Amino acid sequence: MHCPFCGANETKVVDSRLVAEGQQVRRRRECISCHERFTSYEAAELLMPRLIKADGMRQPFDEEKLRAGVQRALEKRPVGVEAIEAAINRIKLRLRATGEREVPSRLVGETVMAELRKLDQVAYVRFASVYRSFQDINEFKEEIDRLSSQTDGQEGSS
Ligand SMILES: [Zn+2]
Repeated sequence: MHCPFCGANETKVVDSRLVAEGQQVRRRRECISCHERFTSYEAAELLMPRLIKADGMRQPFDEEKLRAGVQRALEKRPVGVEAIEAAINRIKLRLRATGEREVPSRLVGETVMAELRKLDQVAYVRFASVYRSFQDINEFKEEIDRLSSQTDGQEGSS
C-alpha cells in the first residue's frame, strides 16, 4: 500500500488486530520513507444475495438502507455504535449463510427483528410495528403481550 503522505511505495505493518468481531483486520502502517503512520482496514468482500420483494421485483441488497432502518429503530436508545455494527454484520452473515443468490426481502426484515429483539425491546417493537403492517390494534397488542410474557421468562404455570 502506498504512503498517503508522500506516495512512497514501501510501507510496513507495525500492528495488526482483528476488529468488528473478527470481520475486519485493522493494520497500523508506517512509511519507510517519511515515517508517517496511518491505519488501514481490510474486510472480505462477499456478495450479498439479491432481494425478492413481495411483488416479485428484484433489487440489490442495500447495506446503507439496512443500517438506516436499524438506526431509526434505535434512535435515542442506550445501544452503542459497536453493538449496532455487530448486529448489522450478523444480519449480513445470516443472509449470506443461506447460500442463495436471491432471498425474499422479508427474510431481511425477520432477521433485523431477531437482532433488535436481542439488543433492545423498545427498538424491536418500533421496528416491528413499522415493518409488519399490523392489521389492527389488537394484533399489535397481541405482539406486545407476547413480548412481555417472554420478558418475564415465564412459560405459564399450569
Ligand atoms: Zn511516506
